[in-house]
Parts: sequence; C-alpha cells; structure tokens
Amino acid sequence: MFMKLSFLGGAQEVTGANHLLEYNSGSKSGQTKKLLVDCGMFQGSKVCEEQNHEPFRFDPKDIDFLFVTHGHLDHVGRIPKLVRDGFGGKIFSTEPTRDFAELMLDDSLGILSKEAERENKELIYKKEDIARTMSLWEAVEYDKEFYLGDIGVVFRDAGHILGSAMVEINLSAGARTKKIVFTGDLGNPPVPLLRPPYKITDANFLVIESTYGDREHEDINERKLKIERAIEDAVAKKGVLMIPAFSIERTQELLFEINDLVESGRIPKIPIFLDSPLAIRATKVYRKYEKYYNKKAKFIINSGDDVFKFPGLQFTLTTEESKKINDVLPPKVIMAGSGMSVGGRIIHHEKRYLSDPNSILLLVGFQAAGSLGRRLADGEKSVKILGEEISVRARIESVVGYSAHPDINGLYNFVENSVDSLEKVFVVQGEAKSALFFTQRVRDYLGVDAVAPKLGDSFKIAI
Ligand SMILES: [Zn+2]
Repeated sequence: MFMKLSFLGGAQEVTGANHLLEYNSGSKSGQTKKLLVDCGMFQGSKVCEEQNHEPFRFDPKDIDFLFVTHGHLDHVGRIPKLVRDGFGGKIFSTEPTRDFAELMLDDSLGILSKEAERENKELIYKKEDIARTMSLWEAVEYDKEFYLGDIGVVFRDAGHILGSAMVEINLSAGARTKKIVFTGDLGNPPVPLLRPPYKITDANFLVIESTYGDREHEDINERKLKIERAIEDAVAKKGVLMIPAFSIERTQELLFEINDLVESGRIPKIPIFLDSPLAIRATKVYRKYEKYYNKKAKFIINSGDDVFKFPGLQFTLTTEESKKINDVLPPKVIMAGSGMSVGGRIIHHEKRYLSDPNSILLLVGFQAAGSLGRRLADGEKSVKILGEEISVRARIESVVGYSAHPDINGLYNFVENSVDSLEKVFVVQGEAKSALFFTQRVRDYLGVDAVAPKLGDSFKIAI
C-alpha cells in the first residue's frame, strides 16, 4: 500500500494551493483514490497569474474528492475551472467556507471578465461553472469524522478565517492507520473573533503552510494600538486613512476592533467607510455563523452589542455610494478591497490620496511579491495606478501582527506538537525563502525529515 503526494500549486509560493493525494490501500478492490486539497488561484504578478490558464497536471475527471480548507481565493479560485475541465466528484468544506467560496467565485468572475475583455483572453470559467461547482458541494462540521471507503476525514478548526479548517485524513490499511494533516492556512491567535487552531498531536505526515516561515511577528497586542494611532493621526492631520483589507476576516476583525475603540470613546467619531461589496456580503456570512466565534466574541454579542455597527460607519455597496466618499471631507477612514491592492475599489482611493502627505496607507495583511501593496510596503516612491503615475507621499505603515498567519514560532510549535509521531513534513504555501528557512528549522531543531516541495514535485511513500 502506498500514498503519493503531489504539489501542484502553493509550492514555494504562497498562492495557488493545490495538493494531490493518491492512495491505494492494497485491499482487493484495490483502486487508487485521488483526493485534492484546495484548488486555489495563483495571485500576485502577471507572470504568476498566467499559471491560472495552464491545464491541470492531472485529469480532473480522475479526481474522486476535493477538500477545501477555507474560502480565500488562493484556495478556491480554480475550483470552477476544475469542474469545467471534468471534475464531477464531491466537494467538502465547512458551511462558512462554502458560503465564502460562492461569494469569492462570483466576485472573482467579475474581475476576470473585465480582465479577459481588456486583454482579449479566454475566461478560465463561466457563471454556469460556479452553479455546477456549488451543486457538488457538501458541508461538514468540525471534529466529526466521516468515511470515504477506507479513508477517514475530519475537519479541524484552523482559526485562520471563519470556517477555516485543517483537513485530517486517516488512511487505513488493515490494522494500520496513518494520519496526514493538511493545515490549509493557520490562524495567529489570539484574534478577536475566532478560536485558536485545533491542537494536533499525532500526525504522521504534515503538509504545513509557511507564509511567515522566516519571520517573527510583532506583539499581537500592539496591533489594536496601531490602528488607534493611525486613526488619531489621520484625524490630527485631517488626512485619509486607507486600509486595503481582505474582505474576509481582516475586515470583520477591524470592524470589531474599531467598534470597541469608538464605543469606548478612545477615538473620535469620524466617517468610516466599508467600501467593498464583497466585504459587506462577507460580513453577512459572519452574522449568519456566530456559532463559530470564540467565547469572548459570543459573550459580547450576547450582551446585545452589534459588533459590525457603530456611529460613523457606513457600508457603501453601490458604485454611486462609493463615488460619494470623495465628497466627504477628511478626516475619514476608507476600508476597501483588495487586500494587496490588486484591483478592487481601494486602488481608486490610492490613486486619489497616495500623493497626499497627510494621508496614511495601513497594510494589515500579507502582500504577495509583485502586488501593488508589496511595492508600496517596500517603499516605492512612484507607482502606476490605472494608467497614471502617482508619486507616493502618504505615510505607508504595516501592522504585521495583524496577520492571519502564524510566524515561525507559531508554525514551529504546531509541528512540535506532533514530534513523536511525525515521519515527514512538507512545507508549502510560502515563498521559497520562507518555506526553505522553515524547512531547515524543522530539520535542525526537531530532527524531523522535512522538505519544501517545488511545483510539480511528487513523493511516493510506502505506508
Ligand atoms: Zn487564507
């Protein structure tokens, strides 16, 4: 009996997660099962995004099941393409992930359609492929094992965004069982709304993310203070505070924190715009699944506070409403997508206000290589936005501690929990530098066999 792991996206890069697990239990029925974990979009530079157009390195018709760790586009973005290209098996995820995926795919199609028109390119999927995708989707609960033949599957809370999960796969052959865990993206506790990641102590094989595998985060408690200061500075200078926010989780966490700052009187009441239809819709999903929140957040909600509503906050859903933000005199706060400033409404605000020395751009999440957000974070003084050269005079700040991913210490602790049973660790979903650094750390400090696979690498393991 054997399993074979192939890394077909998110290998020495953050985005495009796509891992294939083939398993043959050696039983009489003897068929090799093919399972996919995530089928995400490559995001970042143009060259990177070109990969979304390439055919899959397997025949989608041969895949039996797809497990989806969470609703971010770099984990779900190519699922409709998979379906379009022949996948007809079942898709499993938690309920929030299913809802987020539908939102993200619809939104992404809108962006892809505009791009395809502009560049005269073929679309990687169409509207009907999303509908077909959703018809294959089945929601599962955390911590309830289900069986697909001789494969047991459990989704565990990953604490990264609402509904995010690690996929724990138990492969049994006769009396033997091997546990392989795909972490998806892990959370960075403590966070305002979510529970910490589930603690896994008996994995035999680990496929672990490494977004921040070579860095340490600043103190988590600093982040609320930084938000508060950024708002106060914007008020003092009568500037605009722009926050490119990922629509899912970052935005809701920011709202949650700002809600507290406003209601406790720590910041003055100023206009705060959530200028992202996707984030507004995602916030509805948060309201729908409060049962997934941590105890503290549940307590606040049960005490009657609407954490996504406070004086000064306005949701601007339509383009007209969005345009009217321009007429509101600063100081003001604008939160808008996309989180890495690749498309979305934020770039219109950046185009308008980045040249204003009184304004602030606050980066609250990971910025992929090649993205506008990354270039601004790296200190570029002149950037081209929507065809116009903009000189950057606004203050650029990052709150790394706001990251939804653990740093090297968090990742290390996660691996260490399973050190007694681990046979091999596969380090994925990080840029080469980060993935390789963390791989070396695991080898050197824990004495566990570890590798950072390159795109297309396969490992056949007898079990
Ligand atoms: Zn993610």
